[in-house]
Amino acid sequence: MSSDKTHDSIVSDDSRRGATTAVSRETRDPFDRLAEDAGSPLAAEMMAMERQRRALESADFPKPPSTRVIAVSNQKGGVGKTTTSVNVAAALAKRGANVLVIDADPQGNASTALGVDHRSGTPSIYDVLLDETPMAKVAQRCPDIDTLWCVPATIDLAGADIELVSVVRREFRLHDALRDLLEGPGKDLDYVFIDCPPSLGLLTLNAMVVATEVLIPIQCEYYALEGLTQLMKTVEMVRKHLNQGIHVSTIVLTMYDGRTNLAREVAHEVRSHFPSQTLEQTVPRSVRVSEAPGFAQTVITHDPHSSGAVAYTAIARDIAVRGAAGSENR
Ligand code: ADP
Ligand code: MG
Repeated sequence: MSSDKTHDSIVSDDSRRGATTAVSRETRDPFDRLAEDAGSPLAAEMMAMERQRRALESADFPKPPSTRVIAVSNQKGGVGKTTTSVNVAAALAKRGANVLVIDADPQGNASTALGVDHRSGTPSIYDVLLDETPMAKVAQRCPDIDTLWCVPATIDLAGADIELVSVVRREFRLHDALRDLLEGPGKDLDYVFIDCPPSLGLLTLNAMVVATEVLIPIQCEYYALEGLTQLMKTVEMVRKHLNQGIHVSTIVLTMYDGRTNLAREVAHEVRSHFPSQTLEQTVPRSVRVSEAPGFAQTVITHDPHSSGAVAYTAIARDIAVRGAAGSENR
């Protein structure tokens, strides 16, 4: 069953139910039959998702009073930092916010997903950090969403952690560049997401020095919590010595499969340690999410009806609402 078919069926289900009662059970759309079967958790799940998608369509996404700078960080690789950065950014931009994603990972995966050029030699975050090129000169508008911008990363960034060691104000390079942007051509930005590399080196430090918030994606797998203490210590160290304004505002549980005990246990443990920061909404494992970068897309534009797009839109709304209420957790 293709997902499109599924959604057509769900959409028509509520409105047609009255009209179809006379049609025999056997001749009806198989999905309708499935949905009627009280014992079908899959159908129930899909209907709940469609209801959530519709509710989100009419939901308000309040803009923050001033630019929120969010470092998406976790020194573990493959936990969903890039996926979360680009999809939350795209979901917010889709709802009218002005959003910039700074790709601070030499892999350049965020640049790929956002469909911006990042071949070696393209003006990028490397030039901003090492050569003081203004950020406005290297930012590119994303092809699919008008209010979404990306400062790309090229492979040149691979040496930056070492090259930065000997430059002046090495921890403040991103801070100084972003301040200039936000005081000038970027003054209308609502959100800046910084997609950090999988390390706690100088690139991540630069992100934390300029960020007002840290968003930590956690993959609900074994060893998920390992390294979290180190990450929290780093944030605390930055708060004490370099940036009093920083705090961990948000934890997102990624690639969550609620059918496994392990995922549920990890989620429970994360929530018990960080009850106010951990969002209720989790991100399900989804093929649509993982294939989207292959089309130079986020899942928000690639397949807006998919479970991953709905989850990331719900997460974006939670983030927007918390920020607008001034209640990001400190
Ligand atoms: P990180 O930036 O932390 O290294 P990524 O965001 O690149 O992690 O995700 C790691 C891998 O997992 C990627 O191949 C990505 O496509 C995949 N992935 C991330 N989130 C999901 C998801 N919800 N469902 C399926 N695959 C996912
Ligand atoms: Mg990444």
